[in-house]
Amino acid sequence: REDAEYLLSLIRTIPGFPNENVLFRDFMPALADPRGLGILLKALQLALPVQRQDFDSVAGLEARGFLFGPALAASLGKGFIAMRKTGKLPPETISEEYTLEYGQESVEVETNAISSGERVLIVDDLIATGGSASAAAHLVEKCGGTVAGFSFVMELEGLDGRASLGTYPASALVTMP
Ligand code: IMP
Repeated sequence: REDAEYLLSLIRTIPGFPNENVLFRDFMPALADPRGLGILLKALQLALPVQRQDFDSVAGLEARGFLFGPALAASLGKGFIAMRKTGKLPPETISEEYTLEYGQESVEVETNAISSGERVLIVDDLIATGGSASAAAHLVEKCGGTVAGFSFVMELEGLDGRASLGTYPASALVTMP
């Protein structure tokens, strides 16, 4: 409990960023703090939405999913798959487009990054509407893999993000308004 409070104290809230009416949640101070980083990584391991033996690899979304995804994967004895923004990876790639509040976005992986039947745990720093996470899930499936579940550090409530994930198991360390 003490650890949970400590971690929470290291999540910064910035009103009006990146634009008006947005409360931006920032977990960078938790990464910068040695105790905070340890608590964060341990908590992600303990809060896995599925058993460790029920997935084969961890996939992280650019950019903040890259900050802790590889560390989590390594601690569990898994490999890490980078889901990048379009145009960053050499061909051949497989991509998935999705709609954000303003315009289109897309994520992609190298064609051979996920093998047929591979069970993938998707990680990202935060779930808001769930648009990014569902696109990541579609991408895994397009590649022939299956989605084992989702791990988030933060979840913004009231945006119904979880509903957009369907029946996939998901966990978040911290839930915030
Ligand atoms: P969604 O697609 O609406 O669920 O938004 C989640 C994506 O936007 C994640 O990749 C987050 O990194 C980013 N995001 C949205 N809101 C915030 C925030 O308050 N802090 C940090 N990242 C955010």
